[in-house]
Order: sequence, then structure tokens, then C-alpha cells
Amino acid sequence: EMFGQLTTGLESAWNKLRGVDVLTKENIAEPMRDIRRALLEADVSLPVVRRFIESVSEKAVGTDVIRGVKPEQQLVKVVNDELVQLMGGEVSDLVFAKSGPTVILLAGLQGVGKTTVCAKLASYLKKMGKSCMLVAADVYRPAAIDQLTILGKKVGVPVYSEGTEAKPSQIAKNGLKEAKGKKTDVIIVDTAGRLQVDKAMMNELKEVKKAVNPTEVLLVVDAMTGQEAAGLVSSFNDEIGITGAILTKLDGDSRGGAALSVKEVFEFVGRQARREYILVSGKPIKFVGQGERIEDLEPFYPDRMAQRILGMGDVLSFVEKAQEVMHQEDAEELQKKILSAKFNFNDFLKQTQMITKMGSFSRLIGMIPGMNKVTPAQIREAEKNLKFMESMINVMTPEERERPELLAESRERRRRVAKDSGKTEQQVSQLVAQLFQMRARMQKMMGAMQGKDSPDMNE
Ligand code: GDP
Repeated sequence: EMFGQLTTGLESAWNKLRGVDVLTKENIAEPMRDIRRALLEADVSLPVVRRFIESVSEKAVGTDVIRGVKPEQQLVKVVNDELVQLMGGEVSDLVFAKSGPTVILLAGLQGVGKTTVCAKLASYLKKMGKSCMLVAADVYRPAAIDQLTILGKKVGVPVYSEGTEAKPSQIAKNGLKEAKGKKTDVIIVDTAGRLQVDKAMMNELKEVKKAVNPTEVLLVVDAMTGQEAAGLVSSFNDEIGITGAILTKLDGDSRGGAALSVKEVFEFVGRQARREYILVSGKPIKFVGQGERIEDLEPFYPDRMAQRILGMGDVLSFVEKAQEVMHQEDAEELQKKILSAKFNFNDFLKQTQMITKMGSFSRLIGMIPGMNKVTPAQIREAEKNLKFMESMINVMTPEERERPELLAESRERRRRVAKDSGKTEQQVSQLVAQLFQMRARMQKMMGAMQGKDSPDMNE
């Protein structure tokens, strides 16, 4: 099993937390060393591991304790979420051209499975209902053209080729022309690989790219490459500009480093004495190949991959459930308060904090049906507003938060809040007015509800 060793290495980390009550900086130190070792042994690069460990440690100690969830389970969840992020977070879908054929240019070293990927991808796209054509622009090995032709027949898609005499860029250009004529949806251009990165290959790729202006330039990488995958992504990207990667041979016995090294690519910038790395943009993995059969290609799902690495699907879903229940209880309590017409500044704060806790405000808005037309600028504006109001609430006394009437009745108090928060008196008055408006609206809502279904008014 590909991630077997990594999974086992991580298990020893969870085991070390058995019996502790809460995650602390001290008690996670040793488990974090296990995680670090497991990742390094899986051939993940040092700067990626460092960043990962730092981020996990910080989040693990900072998370709220969830009732019923053991600390080691909580750490599993944090590591999982960080792994998902490390692999790009969300699925990165193929991009299609708005008009005319979508051109997918495949690049990569020799033997990584590029020709196989051509056929697999064509088969995948065919199942999506797209018509495809393969273009044989690998002119150095006659066998490569034959292989592509055979695979094309097998999948049932046409293969465009001009033998080994023509120039790859010309073949690609003519192939695209033909595809346009036939109104083909997607063409996939197979290019020549070399054993190593070299100038001639890069120049040829540049020419092909210029000739067909591809929508996607995908680097095919063998999973056995391990952390070297990051170097490949970075050099191909520097030379030709790529849009993503396809990781092949994930069914083999590689240690998993490649899958974790493509999205975050670091570059060594240190002078001899100081070892320093900077994050240069990595690229998303778009597909993974896990076998020699045509069907063995699928979109890359970071969350599924993380679960595969951790081997703890049941723990994760348990923690997620528990988190949900906790949010639910918080929300219910707040709702009661709202309905009881005693909604005050503390509740207001709780409400905004709950929004931030539940993920960024922007994401939340995106989830509300009909709200997806909200522009990022509007969201930023709303977030800024919340921060603005919070800064005034933060300088109120506990009594003022509890009983907003105090502020409504006393100009002196409003003046003090304004002064301490660096806002104007008018802005404070506005905030107070807003709270009472909210109360009034809630009362109204409640009145309307009582007609049909009277809510429980007991506290
Ligand atoms: P190219 O030189 O990059 O075009 O590589 P090929 O497509 O000819 O593939 C090289 C070898 O790798 C062939 O024997 C393929 O069957 C094999 N191969 C390709 N993808 C996979 C994969 O995902 N898993 C396994 N096990 N073998 C693969």
C-alpha cells in the first residue's frame, strides 16, 4: 500500500497522546516529532514538512476542546485538515475553452506514463460527453506514434499524426485545425519526453505551446519521483508555464511524497550558512493515475487522499459530527436569547464570533442560496463592518454590553466608548440604534410566529 509506511508512522503520534486531557504545547512536542519523521520518511521535502509541523502545532494547541472528543482524535482532525490544504484544498477541475476546441498539452519526462494518460484522459472526457482527438507530437520514437494510435483505437477516438518527419509545433497546429473543422471539443497533444530536463525539450514545448495556445498545460509526473516532483513542477513552470500536474503510478510502492510536494513548492534561497526557503507557487494536481488500465485515472480529491493517508475515516467523521453538535447547541442558545428580547451586545459579539468560527464570512455567504452574486468587494466590506462594530463593543463595560439601555440613556457613556475605540460619537450612537432595531425586528418576527407556532418562552 502506497501510504502504508506514512500511515503507520503517524499512528505512533496519536498513541503518544492517549490519556492526556487537553493538547498543550508540551504534550504535542513528541507526537509532532513522530509526524515530522513520518513525513520526511515519506519523502516530503524539508521546507514543506517544517511549514506543516508549524501550522499543525499552532492549530492543535489553539483549538477549542470539543465535548466528547479525545485530544488524539482532535489532533487527527487537525492533521487531516492540514493535509487537505497542503494538497490544494479543493478539487481542481479541468478548464475548458469558452469557444473552439479546448487544447490540453501534456508534458513530462520519458516513461512517466504520458502516452497512457492521453488515452485515459480521452476516455474520461468521452464519458463526460466530450468529443476528443489525440495529436501525436512525439516524433522521436516511431513506437510512440504507434502506441498512441493503438490506444486511440482502443478508446475510440481519432489520432492525428504526420509521422516522424514533421515538426512537432506544425503537427500540433495542423491537428488543431483538423479538430476545428470537425468541431471536436478537446484535443490532447502528446509531446516528447526526455530522460532528464533539457533545453531542447523545453524549447520544443515552448514552440508547441505557442502554436496551439493550450487551455491546459499539464505536467505528467511519476509518483515514484517523490519530493523531486516539486523540482520538476518548478522547472517546467518556469520554462513553459504549466496549469497543473497529473500524478501517475500511485498504485505503485512509492512512499507518497510526490502527492504532498506538488502544490507547495519551496525554493532554496539561503546563502551557505543560512538555510532559507521561500514558497514559490506550486501547481494543483488535477488527476491521478493508479494503474495500467484505461479506467485507472481519476480526478484528484485532496480530502479523499488525506483520508487514505491517515486511514482514520471513522475518527474524522466522528470529530466533525461532534463539532457540528457543538455549533448547533451554541446556535440554539443564541436563538433562545434572540427570541427572549434581551438580545444585547454580548450576544451580538457571540453572533459575529460564531460567524468567524464557522469559517470565513465570505464562505458562509457563498453557501446561502441566492447569495452567490455577492461580490468579493461587498463581502470584504461586510467583514470590515463587523470588525468596526466589534472594536466599539470591545471597549464597553460588562454592564453596558449586558444592558444596552445604559448607552442609549447616557451621552457620557457613548462619548467614552467613542473615545476609547477611536470612533466618533455618532458612530457609537448608530451602533446602539442598530442593536435596538435588531431587537425590534426580532420582536416583530416573534409576534408573527406566535400566531401559528408559539415558541417556548421559558428561559
Ligand atoms: P511515456 O513515455 O511517458 O509516454 O510513458 P507510457 O505512457 O509509455 O508509460 C510507461 C509505462 O508506465 C507503461 O508500461 C505504462 O503501462 C505504465 N503506466 C502508466 N501509467 C501507469 C499507472 O498509473 N500505474 C502503473 N502501474 N503503470 C502505469
